[in-house]
Amino acid sequence: MIVALAGGVGAARMLRGIVAIANPSEVTAVVNTGDDTVMHGLHISPDLDTVTYTLAGKINPETGWGLVDETWSAMAELRAYSQGRMGWFNLGDRDLGTHLYRTSRLTEGATLTEVTAEIAARWGLGVRLLPMSDDRVETRVVVMEAGGAQEIGFQDYFVGRHHDVAVTEVRLAGIESASAGPDVLDCIDQADRIVICPSNPIVSIGPVLATGGIGAAVANRRDFTVAVSPIIAGKALKGPADRMLAALGHEASVVGVARMWAPFASALVIDELDAGRAGEVEAAGIRPIVAPTVMSGPDEAAALARVVLRARHETA
Ligand code: GDP
Ligand code: CA
Repeated sequence: MIVALAGGVGAARMLRGIVAIANPSEVTAVVNTGDDTVMHGLHISPDLDTVTYTLAGKINPETGWGLVDETWSAMAELRAYSQGRMGWFNLGDRDLGTHLYRTSRLTEGATLTEVTAEIAARWGLGVRLLPMSDDRVETRVVVMEAGGAQEIGFQDYFVGRHHDVAVTEVRLAGIESASAGPDVLDCIDQADRIVICPSNPIVSIGPVLATGGIGAAVANRRDFTVAVSPIIAGKALKGPADRMLAALGHEASVVGVARMWAPFASALVIDELDAGRAGEVEAAGIRPIVAPTVMSGPDEAAALARVVLRARHETA
């Protein structure tokens, strides 16, 4: 079994590559739910949805999130009712069906793990998707604004403020009492290969590793764990990962990523553009594997997956 620790876009691309070369029924993704939010009474799970829609081949290519062939009538009505106050977080008409279903099932008493399996089944995903937890863990961001430091929800930062404000701290509300989702720790214990996907280390992989013993379980399987750097030549391909790393005292480079993942993974795939830093990665205590890591399409993703899955076990 292959277990992938996943955020949104980078992980979805990695998983698409993995299922192109491995049997999807052998793949389990443990997905970040720290970005989850309640909007207009609906439970939204952005990373679970990005992974689901991408693996279903239905991700919206124009936005990079949400469903393909989307319409936006409900949002237009919401904006009209609220004179534009509501509707800053875009939810397409088709996508709303997912959120209505998830919220209804949670209200009926189903767990997020159960609903996620139902949604994955509807889209015919062969991969098993496990939320990192059925408990609420909420990623909170402290940002510097004109009035001083302010703690806001992740979507207020990411979407509401277009992640272009300075971050001074990231907090995971509820993390102390959150347990890993059912089966998550067992899957990690039994995996033949664990992949830390190229997702935002601070707000996507960080919450997964911080939840209910997941980090300790992965560290325990370090020899079987391979990470892929989301940072290429000092930059994130998309989003604030590079700025966030720097703001929180990490180096925004493959070396910074190496230092973060060395306790958890025995190998780190870094991009060819970072080949010159392989020695520093090694010195951080993690074996560098240099390969093309930009998954611009399915072929590139499959090629990267091949590198990741073939990486020899450090000791085994
Ligand atoms: P989000 O939840 O949708 O923001 O996505 P993630 O948590 O997966 O984080 C986005 C990160 O994925 C960024 O840091 C990107 O640099 C990284 N990423 C996206 N696509 C790729 C890719 O093709 N290759 C690599 N190496 N990283 C990627
Ligand atoms: Ca995310």
